Amino acid sequence: MPSFATSPGTRDILAPEAPRWRQFQQTFADVVELAGFAHIIPPMFEDLGVFLRVGETTEIVTKEMYDFEDKGGRRVALRPEQTASVCRAFVEHRPVTPWKVWYAGPNFRYEKPQQGRYRQFDQVGIEVLGVDDPQLDAEVIGLAVEFYRRLGLRGVQLSVNSLGDSGDRDRYAVALRTHFSANIDALSAESRATLERNPLRVLDSKRSEDAALIAAAPKMADHLSDQAAAHFVDVQSSLLSAGVGFVVDDRLVRGLDYYRRTTFEFVSTALSAAHVAIGGGGRYDGLVAELGGPDTPGIGFALGLDRTLLACDAEGVFAPPPGRVDVFVVDATGGTHAGAVCAELRAAGIGTDRAYDARSMKAQMKSADRAGARLAIIIGEDEATAKTAIIRTMEGGSQHVVQRDALIAQVRQALHG
Ligand code: AMP
Repeated sequence: MPSFATSPGTRDILAPEAPRWRQFQQTFADVVELAGFAHIIPPMFEDLGVFLRVGETTEIVTKEMYDFEDKGGRRVALRPEQTASVCRAFVEHRPVTPWKVWYAGPNFRYEKPQQGRYRQFDQVGIEVLGVDDPQLDAEVIGLAVEFYRRLGLRGVQLSVNSLGDSGDRDRYAVALRTHFSANIDALSAESRATLERNPLRVLDSKRSEDAALIAAAPKMADHLSDQAAAHFVDVQSSLLSAGVGFVVDDRLVRGLDYYRRTTFEFVSTALSAAHVAIGGGGRYDGLVAELGGPDTPGIGFALGLDRTLLACDAEGVFAPPPGRVDVFVVDATGGTHAGAVCAELRAAGIGTDRAYDARSMKAQMKSADRAGARLAIIIGEDEATAKTAIIRTMEGGSQHVVQRDALIAQVRQALHG
């Protein structure tokens, strides 16, 4: 018989990690729904063309896309991220602006798998379409900061930059190309290839041989238009007045081509260098128009769930939630009473489990322990006849007999005092 394991870069999320994921998403929903964001669930695959807008020169598009022809001959792709889908949805549904949405769910990139880098990974994120007020940029960033605070993370650092408007960015790309081309022999082979495709991405190179040239490269700040520069100043002052700490990193370019003006990234000081980036985002004022919609500004962020939880582990915060089973029914009469008691307690909202196959008392008590129950309800022949049950505290082992028809009240009393 063949046996199978998960594909490289994917993994099963088991308990207690799985309920922790749910709690992560719920915590995020709690933060952003209080700020007026509505949930959106875009499809996991769509027309490849939607994702080509992420940037035809980016690795995400050129190397990492899970794209294929479906049985109807359509060229589709699993989403590598969700911003492009949200913009496509905006163009398709034309909601009133400002349109504020949040999302959670998996994305797919054919990357080299390693810890903190997967081929299927989850993100939570928000997008706002229709507003170019710099106060919004600061508010969006502040919501991510508030979310990290709710998780209990302390070692999160925020970097911000402005990539200017598209004309600024083009002029900066020319300046960078001139700078790096003049020193091409000193550049690593990888960065030479990157330079061909996208000079801004050379700034992202972590290779030591590129460091000096990158340090000497022209700065984006010197290529910003007056409007983009003023916008960036306003974003920074809004962040300052909101008490959000940040550093300006003029080398922050990010992996997606659609960013304009404000870009930002969060790194965790608790993680090792390979996967310190736990989230990021920025403005993408041209993206809706590129997808066939009206000229509409947009800004948002995506936070990596997998990596953020690694940061939580490293900081010892945001522990998995406790199990939901508080009560375990131990039925020494063969199991029919267990069925009825479980149904009754569950209907009353009390997490209850049981054993099967008429196992011995001892085996059932062991299962109760493994289930993490706080109480065992024991029903033997005597209790069945007398219409009673024994409530036993798992820790300490004290027990008392109660009437069956008072069971729910007594269990509540024993659990919650
Ligand atoms: P991006 O959509 O590339 O801006 O990524 C936003 C965040 O998603 C990153 O900061 C990471 O935390 C996370 N992320 C991106 N790619 C991966 C991946 N392959 N595996 C795990 N997390 C990822």
